[in-house]
Amino acid sequence: MSMHLEKKLHLEEKLHFDPNQPCCGDPSIGDMFPDLLALEPNMINRGRIFSVTIMATGLGVQAREMTVDQAAWVACSRSPHFRSCYDLSLAKLALQQAIKG
Ligand SMILES: [Zn+2]
Repeated sequence: MSMHLEKKLHLEEKLHFDPNQPCCGDPSIGDMFPDLLALEPNMINRGRIFSVTIMATGLGVQAREMTVDQAAWVACSRSPHFRSCYDLSLAKLALQQAIKG
């Protein structure tokens, strides 16, 4: 797996969260991770904190990368609703994984 595809390649982004909404709002949206059921290949799939890039051609997946926005994580972790947002984000991730099989 090659590291830092994001930095090496000038990839387009797909946002999996609404940047106009505050992070860790109340009620929680749970948007820390990108939606695994809606990942776009060859793009940076941005969740609020975690991003996923999957480089793929017709022949299959060439590389996968996950990155963490440290500044966003720090800002999130200071929110009073952080725990609720984190739990909901994890629950959504678990269900998406289960559906994907
Ligand atoms: Zn947050």
